[in-house]
Amino acid sequence: PVPVIAIDGPSASGKGTVAERVAAALGWQVLDSGSLYRIVALAAMRAGVALDDEAGVAAVAAALPARFETGRVLLGDDDVTTDIRSEACSSGASRVAVLPAVREALLGRQRDYRSAPGLVADGRDMGSVVFPDAGLKIFLTASVEARAGRRYKQLIEKGLPANMQSLLDDLRERDARDAARPVAPLMKLPDAALLDTTELDVEGAVAFVLDLVRD
Ligand code: C5P
Repeated sequence: PVPVIAIDGPSASGKGTVAERVAAALGWQVLDSGSLYRIVALAAMRAGVALDDEAGVAAVAAALPARFETGRVLLGDDDVTTDIRSEACSSGASRVAVLPAVREALLGRQRDYRSAPGLVADGRDMGSVVFPDAGLKIFLTASVEARAGRRYKQLIEKGLPANMQSLLDDLRERDARDAARPVAPLMKLPDAALLDTTELDVEGAVAFVLDLVRD
């Protein structure tokens, strides 16, 4: 089977950046599964579907006209690359992600990304549900303070408003929701390697993963 590296972990842990760099180093495909949940939340909000309407949101997820192009995320003909990073979509994504029918509707689409020569997939349940047979599983995490600090820096660099306390509150709330849900809760699997980036930069994290690949 086509090899998969599953990188799971909490919000703002740097999974996305590490997954992209590892994929680029290996020449593999990359799947940012969180963006799928974000697009579902955005599409549901635009369609006027309540985010707790399980059947309604699942129907949106099943028929999602989403596409990823280099550096761009499209919903139909709309470029939603920036929109899906908004706070509304971040919290909306974690709300629709608790609905089993929504997760089910996205399963096949995620598995379709598995293609030669390999896939690096990042999310919350890549190693547990979507690619349980992944040859390498990583649980990538960092302290909530380190994660909020990185988000803060990114927002300031983009000239966007940023408030440390609200970033901390928001991350804690999403972590709690992701860990407490009955379906695909966020957790470190026994067969996943722990990568704590509280005191490690991106280069260090990428090197850690590539060393495991070469083992
Ligand atoms: O990783 P990201 O912050 O973009 O994910 C947004 C939300 O989507 C997460 O808070 C989580 O609730 C949900 N998610 C998930 N399963 C995944 C990826 C993301 O439940 N595989």
